[in-house]
Amino acid sequence: MTTVVLAERAGDTISGGTLEALTLARRMGAGDVAVLMVGPLHDDAATVLAAHGAGSIHVAEHDLLAGYNPQAWGDVLAGAARHVDADVVIAPGSDQGNEVLAHAAAVLDIPMVANVLEVESTEPFTVRRVRWGGSLIERATVSAGGPLALSVASHALDPEPADTPGSATVHPFTPELDPAVAGCAVVERVQRAAGLTLATAPVVVSGGRGVGSADGFAPLEELAALLGGVVGCSRAVTNNGWRNHTDQVGQTGTRIAPEIYIACGISGAIQHWVGAMASKRILAINTDRNANMVTKADDAVIGDLHQVVPAITAEIRRRRATP
Ligand SMILES: Cc1cc2nc3c(=O)[nH]c(=O)nc-3n(C[C@H](O)[C@H](O)[C@H](O)COP(=O)(O)OP(=O)(O)OC[C@H]3O[C@@H](n4cnc5c(N)ncnc54)[C@H](O)[C@@H]3O)c2cc1C
Repeated sequence: MTTVVLAERAGDTISGGTLEALTLARRMGAGDVAVLMVGPLHDDAATVLAAHGAGSIHVAEHDLLAGYNPQAWGDVLAGAARHVDADVVIAPGSDQGNEVLAHAAAVLDIPMVANVLEVESTEPFTVRRVRWGGSLIERATVSAGGPLALSVASHALDPEPADTPGSATVHPFTPELDPAVAGCAVVERVQRAAGLTLATAPVVVSGGRGVGSADGFAPLEELAALLGGVVGCSRAVTNNGWRNHTDQVGQTGTRIAPEIYIACGISGAIQHWVGAMASKRILAINTDRNANMVTKADDAVIGDLHQVVPAITAEIRRRRATP
């Protein structure tokens, strides 16, 4: 079974999603795992890839690949799959991994399955995969013969180093790319403030439509800062342009697992809930005692968030000031 895995960077090293993809490749019984890395390969990254079983690392460099260009990256992944005559093309289950893989699958004209947890058999391919934002695990058999493209469900399997490290032989190359593939490119990157992120913060104070406006988030910012956390939001908020999509919790946002999640004016629709349900403890603040978020939360305050949130902040300050 020949496999090619798309590698994703995390700073100078490799993303956790890539290691999940390599782990799945080895569990499928892939022999020599080929890795495609777009852009420069740092020594740390090569070491990590070797430890996780990479037999070869194909490093593609081209002006059209700089930054991120999904169609061009997909073209190169398809080229790498053809080059090694891959039976399976695997990508991390990130937005980027899925997007590049979809382009590659289209170029190769092969089926793609997303969010895979396990490959149970390879002839025909039968997989277990996550559907509907995590509320369903599906067993799917791919009826088309031939190669398969699959992405690995994010954070669903523990990355494991290989028993025997791969040789990780590096093969730099410059792909031939038609300028027509440069239709979509990153023109600007907005750097988030260093430090806590939505995915890793121990406390997330989130606001929904009930917050009412972009300015309405100021008391939530204040409470989050006081608790050493960050602010999140629902999709109603990002749709209204009150906050950036990077703050969105949920199926099409970030899945979080903080010690405490404080959901202010959020109804708790399933698409939001799947992103918040791994929180250790949930406090809902809502005027509607029957809201889904309230009935599912560990604790709830039924009331107007514009009064409740400042009252919590004031009480924390008062207690901290008391010797
Ligand atoms: C394919 C798809 C993907 C989606 N992905 C996501 C996702 O990733 N994340 C996400 O969040 N949503 C997602 N959604 C949207 C989701 O279905 C809901 O529409 C959205 O979560 C609702 O946001 P909300 O709870 O802020 O708003 P609403 O549902 O309108 O709820 C507002 C809540 O605020 C309460 N409220 C109002 N005023 C106050 C007040 N003054 N004080 C206290 N409480 C108050 C109300 O009682 C109500 O419970 C997705 C939908 C689809 C179809």
